[in-house]
Amino acid sequence: MTAQNPNIYAGPYVDRASSVRADAAQLAMWRADPLARWLLVWSLQSLVTVGDAPNAALLRTRPDSASDPEGIFLGHFRGHPVFAIEADGTEVPALGDAHRFADLRGIGGLLPPDEAGLLAYARALFYWRSRHRYCGACGELTVAGDGGHVMRCAGCGHAAFPRIDPAIIVLAVDGDRALLGRQANWPTGRYSTIAGFVEPGESLEDAVVREVREETGIEVDQVRYRSSQPWPFPSSLMLGFQARATTSTVLCPDGELEDARFFSIQDIGSGAVLLPPSSSISFRLIEDWFYTQTGSSLRTGPPWPMRS
Ligand SMILES: [Zn+2]
Repeated sequence: MTAQNPNIYAGPYVDRASSVRADAAQLAMWRADPLARWLLVWSLQSLVTVGDAPNAALLRTRPDSASDPEGIFLGHFRGHPVFAIEADGTEVPALGDAHRFADLRGIGGLLPPDEAGLLAYARALFYWRSRHRYCGACGELTVAGDGGHVMRCAGCGHAAFPRIDPAIIVLAVDGDRALLGRQANWPTGRYSTIAGFVEPGESLEDAVVREVREETGIEVDQVRYRSSQPWPFPSSLMLGFQARATTSTVLCPDGELEDARFFSIQDIGSGAVLLPPSSSISFRLIEDWFYTQTGSSLRTGPPWPMRS
């Protein structure tokens, strides 16, 4: 049903035109082009339209409040060269009643998917830049280059590129039971798939086996890749897997989870378990497995993906 459909924040939502990033003259022409659009980010929040069904605010003119007036070139979106720029200051920039700043994490699932992807892309880049204002090698200030996609040291010339932290997320299953866990600070009754960051010197498959063991005491094999999801909160790439559980005694040995257990497919289908938001790859892993097992959809809203 869903294997070919991109997760939210993923998909070919933008032509990144990466070969043009180093062409300063071309980027200057596009900045001056009436077709240019501007995405404003403030304090990692995205500017969106006001209303129950928000849209990304694709401004026609460059806001004055930007600290870096050149911005970051994101690519071509719906035929427009699009630049993301960041507003300075601790006060919310005043932009009238038609727009507001919102945390993408709260509204991503409400946006048209291509706009959600574009805002996620911009958010991830600004978070990265905020952590690379100084050179990690010599401590000098860095300067943005290549359309904002590299931070170069003004002293030693070291180049820092956008970084992504790979994290595995896995649905471990034992026939018609699925292993889910919960953290203590989650809403009452919510359970989700097992996840964790990949460590240096570790394959994705190794990380899947280790994380499930550390968090639940369960051993898994038959690790199969399913799909991935950019998760810019702040800089993860979630790599989704399904695996087979080969043991059944659940423990929570490393203390990261408050509880973990196997749920029957009836528990999951009946709503007895509060699942993660439908915009998450965790839900996607569960719904794909549920569909394979039952032929029924877990999703009660519009069909996946929600295309505008
Ligand atoms: Zn340096």
